[in-house]
Amino acid sequence: MAATELDQIVNLCKRRGFVYPSAEIYGGFRSSYDYGPLGSLMLRNVREAWVRTMVQQRDDVVLIDAAILAPPQVFEASGHLANFSDPLVDCTKCKQRFREDHLTDPNLCPGCGATGSFTEARAFNLMFKTFAGPVEGSGAEVYMRPETAQGMFVNFLNVLQTSRKKPPFGIAQVGKSFRNEITPGNFIFRTREFEQMELEFFVPPAESAQWYEYWCNARLQWYIDLGIPADMLMLRPHDDDELSHYSSGTSDIEFKYPWGWGELEGVAQRTNYDLNQHAQHSGQKLDYFDQATNERYVPFVIEPAAGVNRAMAAFLLAAYDEDIINDEPRTVLRLHPRLAPFKVAVLPLSKKDTLTPLAKQIFSTLSERYMVDYDETQAIGKRYRRQDEIGTPFCITVDFDSLEDGAVTIRERDTTEQVRVPIADLSIEMFRRLGF
Ligand code: ATP
Repeated sequence: MAATELDQIVNLCKRRGFVYPSAEIYGGFRSSYDYGPLGSLMLRNVREAWVRTMVQQRDDVVLIDAAILAPPQVFEASGHLANFSDPLVDCTKCKQRFREDHLTDPNLCPGCGATGSFTEARAFNLMFKTFAGPVEGSGAEVYMRPETAQGMFVNFLNVLQTSRKKPPFGIAQVGKSFRNEITPGNFIFRTREFEQMELEFFVPPAESAQWYEYWCNARLQWYIDLGIPADMLMLRPHDDDELSHYSSGTSDIEFKYPWGWGELEGVAQRTNYDLNQHAQHSGQKLDYFDQATNERYVPFVIEPAAGVNRAMAAFLLAAYDEDIINDEPRTVLRLHPRLAPFKVAVLPLSKKDTLTPLAKQIFSTLSERYMVDYDETQAIGKRYRRQDEIGTPFCITVDFDSLEDGAVTIRERDTTEQVRVPIADLSIEMFRRLGF
């Protein structure tokens, strides 16, 4: 696999409609991105792959979709108002601002090279504050959630009572979170507005360690199953001084980004901190009564917390490849079929009217089940390359023989191998090849 530079992915994403700089016609809005026709499909595929594994294929996890705006009480209880901050230093020479914990040398300014030019570190809260209603001022303040997790904790009782689940069980959520990051960057790796996929898994306290280990392994395996080579991933337990205010143990699933190893997902043991805090602040009992043992307890929580956008970046980086086909270089995204924006492209060999009805009919049949691209312009070789570059696993070519023999050619992205298949067998053949 070619070593993937970030620039190659950024360029491909712009060129092919995965990701655009936000508000570009106004000069762009720094470190903010819009997802184009292909990027939005891929984001949806990442979310769906997560929901499929974490909710659909389990009988012990339910999904919720909580509000993004929340009153200050939620974040007072969670500790975010007091603790969710980064230490900031300013360079008195070049006036740039840095996160102290990101500096390789705490005395050396990476902006201008000055030494000993930093101010004392100040805590900078990362939450976005806004106002609900027409009056700005105290009493109207609300916050945009910096993580989806609190939605699960404040709904713990609702879900417990309506879903008939009992620990060990989980509440999952996919949705946007907002952090006023001081140093956003590295493309979609760190932005101020992003999407998370989080699970709060509630367990009897004595089972906490065993479920933590289980989720660390299960989450690592999820990325491998979706095509990231195992040697581009690692599980890194946090040192004590890295732990969040709520955590008794955290491991990061790290990915080998072009700039080095970095976090892809965090798996945290949140203990019973959040439920206790919300119980105390709300005056509600947030616990579970186990009728079998006659015991009442506050469940412990294991939280695998992933980022949709960051996962998309990792999947793209791992899938990017360049090879030589028939003496010609090509760019290919070797994306897992579940993640590829299109599963199939239908390509009539010529734009002539004679092929269009049959090609459209194939499109219409396959698009009942899959996201299918349809492209009839340019030479067929060029069209194959375009599909390779956006990761489409299969192309179906409709040619003039198809009108006679009722068959089409299936071309496979990775091997470029081509086979002739009866049109009548296409649906079953695609199912067999894609695996879904
Ligand atoms: P980091 O150390 O990179 O700031 P974090 O430890 O603060 O991340 P968590 O609070 O554990 O991140 O959030 C869980 C996941 O949400 C991260 O692993 C990441 O995938 C995603 N995430 C967090 N912050 C951002 C961001 N600013 N932009 C994009 N994704 C993010």
